[in-house]
Amino acid sequence: MKSKYSHVLTLIAAILAFVPVMGVDWLLDNYVRMRERVTLQQSLDAIAERIESGARDGIGSLRTILADSPSLCTPTFISNVHKEMQQSLYLKQVVVENPDGVQYCDAFGSMVAFSPISGNLAIPGHTETVSVGTLGNLSTPVMKITQAFGETRRVSAFVPMVSSTTQSLLSRFKPTAMVRVSLTNGTPVLVAGDPSPFDNRGAVEFVASEGFAGELPIRLEAGVPFAMVRADYADLDVSFTIIACIMSGAFLVLALQYVRRSKLPAFDLERAIAAGELKPYYQPVINLKTGRLAGCEMLCRWEKKNGEVVMPGAFIEYAEITGLAIPMTLSLMQQVRTDLADICIEMPDIKISINLFEGHFRDSSIVEDVQAIFGGSSIAFRQLVFELTERAPIGNSTTAQSVIAGFHKLGVRLAMDDVGTGHSNLAYMQTLGVDVIKIDKIFVDMIKSDTQAVPVLDGLISMCRDLGTEIIAEGVETEAQALYLRARGVVMAQGYLFAPAMKVAAFKELARALNGTPQTTPLAAPLSAVTAEAAA
Ligand code: MN
Repeated sequence: MKSKYSHVLTLIAAILAFVPVMGVDWLLDNYVRMRERVTLQQSLDAIAERIESGARDGIGSLRTILADSPSLCTPTFISNVHKEMQQSLYLKQVVVENPDGVQYCDAFGSMVAFSPISGNLAIPGHTETVSVGTLGNLSTPVMKITQAFGETRRVSAFVPMVSSTTQSLLSRFKPTAMVRVSLTNGTPVLVAGDPSPFDNRGAVEFVASEGFAGELPIRLEAGVPFAMVRADYADLDVSFTIIACIMSGAFLVLALQYVRRSKLPAFDLERAIAAGELKPYYQPVINLKTGRLAGCEMLCRWEKKNGEVVMPGAFIEYAEITGLAIPMTLSLMQQVRTDLADICIEMPDIKISINLFEGHFRDSSIVEDVQAIFGGSSIAFRQLVFELTERAPIGNSTTAQSVIAGFHKLGVRLAMDDVGTGHSNLAYMQTLGVDVIKIDKIFVDMIKSDTQAVPVLDGLISMCRDLGTEIIAEGVETEAQALYLRARGVVMAQGYLFAPAMKVAAFKELARALNGTPQTTPLAAPLSAVTAEAAA
């Protein structure tokens, strides 16, 4: 039944409802990571591109100078150097040295003060080598690109690595970023920002990227603390969170509405009991020998204000689980007391069956309630039968025993309902002190004609007879079934063949029609007479 799972459904709905709110953070975090990494990479690529084009320019100039100059340090050579320096964007100086670093000439006729921080590194795919260091009083590191000229001469061109100062390198980045240019052997060349948190990251999350300056042995890294960039998205976070909260709220409302609607009968049951919407209906029990009314079974119906009538199958299980079955039964018994007061006086032999639940046998207050409701009423205790179903055994607890003993003491009788469908046995029913056994409809349904024997049913009937209990057959729908049962000595029966559960007025009318005038010919044609009455 739906109501069983409604708590779980509600919980799931509540959890699901907050997924958008929790999701905003997660989505935004990942968006920021992705977005900032792209930005970082673009800035880094621009620097790498700048370094690479400087190196390319240096290599190109060097090649042009050497191609146009048959020998070094001649006026032609110096003139070619000057011409190239005018044309080049980056070329700052050219020097001719021997392998030991002894200078022969340069662009300006002075000494070139170059302090290398690396040795000569090969550039893959090129005959030139590169070394990085500082040149004179230039504020940025330079690349010294060197080409061998014969065995004894080295010609080098100097180009700055970046066009600006170390700090202005950071202008492309967040103020909290770290940018580092280093040689692939690990020697740092240029560092902007504080690299130590970046190098020891682990405790703090960084958005980081890395790149290389083309074929040059130069590596670039950039990083920015995630929390710093994430803070820049605070506005977006607020807007998204508000939207997500609205979505969550809407979802929660929809989900709760769905859950409420799907189990409305259950939700509403407590109010319905208090409002008296649960009404007793009465299904006649017929004496098959006389055709007279032997009694009835009270079955409840939920008559809603809108006119809808709900069958107990839709809410009984919920009523039992929630304990609402107790006040529900009380309300029904109070109505029975009023409904059947006159008919019980008119017909002192009729019996009224009332269904109890397993929960009623866990607390002896039911005996007191029955005593309070029916004691001193027009309905005598001996006219009452309380049914308990075999499907949910009440066990053998002392409380259950005392409830049964209490009932017997009052003089009310006990019936075992749905017999044959549960797990109980003769011993169990004998221990409980059952007075009436109600044979379930599934056994009655086995009767196809009044002449063809149904051994299972016959066995059940003889078992009841051994126990010395009264028998009521349930769910009798055909005349053949009624005749078969009567032939086997089953006297009492209820079912659609006679009548369904009816409202009190219709029931009383039928009761008076059946029992009002003494039957003169009890065995002549009782069944068809009763059937006709019921159909009327
Ligand atoms: Mn019953």
